[in-house]
Amino acid sequence: MNLAAKVAKPSYDLAAFTAALGDVPVDDDPKVLTKKSRDFFWFSPVLKHQLEGKVGDLLIEPRDEADVIRVAAAAARYRVPVTIRGGGTGNYGQCVPVQGGVILDMTALDAIAWQKGALLRVGAGRKMSEIDAETRKHGFELRMHPSTKRTASIGGFAAGGSAGAGSVTYGGLRELGNIMGARVISLEETPRVFELKGDAALKICHGWGTTGIITALEMPLAPAFDWVDLVVSFGDFISAVRFGYELALADGIVKKLVTPVAWPIPRYFPGMGAYFADGRAAVIVMVAEHSVAPCLSLAAAHNGEITYRRPTDESTGAHPLYELTWNHTTMHALKIDKDITYLQAMYPAADFLEKVAEISALFSPDELLQHFEFMRHAGRQTAAGIHMIKFTTEARLNEIMDMHRRCGIFIADPHIWMLEDSAGYKSADTDLMSFKREVDPLGICNPGKMRTYVPAR
Ligand SMILES: Cc1cc2nc3c(=O)[nH]c(=O)nc-3n(C[C@H](O)[C@H](O)[C@H](O)COP(=O)(O)OP(=O)(O)OC[C@H]3O[C@@H](n4cnc5c(N)ncnc54)[C@H](O)[C@@H]3O)c2cc1C
Repeated sequence: MNLAAKVAKPSYDLAAFTAALGDVPVDDDPKVLTKKSRDFFWFSPVLKHQLEGKVGDLLIEPRDEADVIRVAAAAARYRVPVTIRGGGTGNYGQCVPVQGGVILDMTALDAIAWQKGALLRVGAGRKMSEIDAETRKHGFELRMHPSTKRTASIGGFAAGGSAGAGSVTYGGLRELGNIMGARVISLEETPRVFELKGDAALKICHGWGTTGIITALEMPLAPAFDWVDLVVSFGDFISAVRFGYELALADGIVKKLVTPVAWPIPRYFPGMGAYFADGRAAVIVMVAEHSVAPCLSLAAAHNGEITYRRPTDESTGAHPLYELTWNHTTMHALKIDKDITYLQAMYPAADFLEKVAEISALFSPDELLQHFEFMRHAGRQTAAGIHMIKFTTEARLNEIMDMHRRCGIFIADPHIWMLEDSAGYKSADTDLMSFKREVDPLGICNPGKMRTYVPAR
């Protein structure tokens, strides 16, 4: 495919567009633009090479939905590409403006409209840590959050994320019922407002900001427990995975996180040397306070040794253990070894432990280090393998992913910035595509990220 064609910058009248925005706050400071045009694509040595240097022309900071509508109308009128941005913690250049244009910073749309028991309506720009701080006052919290909870927005998670702490109980974001409603603004000269409910709300899920501007979300909540962080240490990795799997399956134990990591992954965790013994695998766990006792019994039955036990602490300066898990694991490694990268491998629920053994036999620990996040998928317990890879060449990286596919493991390729290609699909999902036609007929919403979309107008 011709990369240059994909990233060709359309020409448009920036001055006329900016004038049409009226008093909507904008910023054209080159330093700010460079910063706000990036996400964490550099976790991938492939994307790092492809996306470096792509910078937007103007940052727009809407104060409210009226500002968003004004931006959407002006962008449609002057055919200006719009790349929407929350916390900017996405991993595949999801909020990099590959065709230039403007960056729409949604973080000021952060009001909590209401909380009715276990349902919340909140502005898309609100940070997830701040949501939990509010809803916990009423005994509830988000069902799941990424390990970037303290920096990422709920809108960015819904549009760009997939799962996180909590998914061991509730599954991924895309499970029906995990996003209950979304308010979306179309990019048209007269923007329309869509209130999506129920299964329709999933149309914005993992669309990488290509399907309109989300201004508010309705999210289901879970009971807020007092969580306890544990590290359970094991002599070998397969024992750690077996314990993790049984804990994940133990329906009576209330947990939020079950993360087996092979040695030497823990060596990369800053300031944690005392809790991860040399040469030993570990499982990082978040369990409800009242479920600690059965969790410890299960650990003892698997010859696991508890090396860390503290209430989960999210106060400023503290380090909750979830910040060692999901893609934080890769981040800590990258700070020490620049040649590390990662996989996103969804293991099948059937024969899970056999698949773990199969992959262990195929790769040397010098090349692939196993890291799992247990999560439910379509009602069954399985795990995402966010394995660490010692990068050598792009060809070898692709071969490693193919070897997983040949074992029946689904790969969501994190080294690609096209929506369809990341999942290995020939074309974008029908629901996503038909909704995009509604909300982005001109093809100006995060353009360049959905390869198979042909603008209707
Ligand atoms: C260290 C690290 C750990 C991570 N851990 C996890 C994890 O555990 N689970 C997980 O799923 N992901 C994880 N991620 C990826 C990312 O952090 C999450 O997906 C996060 O929720 C993104 O939120 P954000 O506000 O930073 O979104 P951004 O990066 O700002 O945006 C993400 C995508 O959503 C779009 N978008 C943002 N706001 C809106 C809006 N209002 N309307 C429409 N589109 C919008 C953007 O255009 C972009 O395509 C991790 C990333 C890093 C760097």
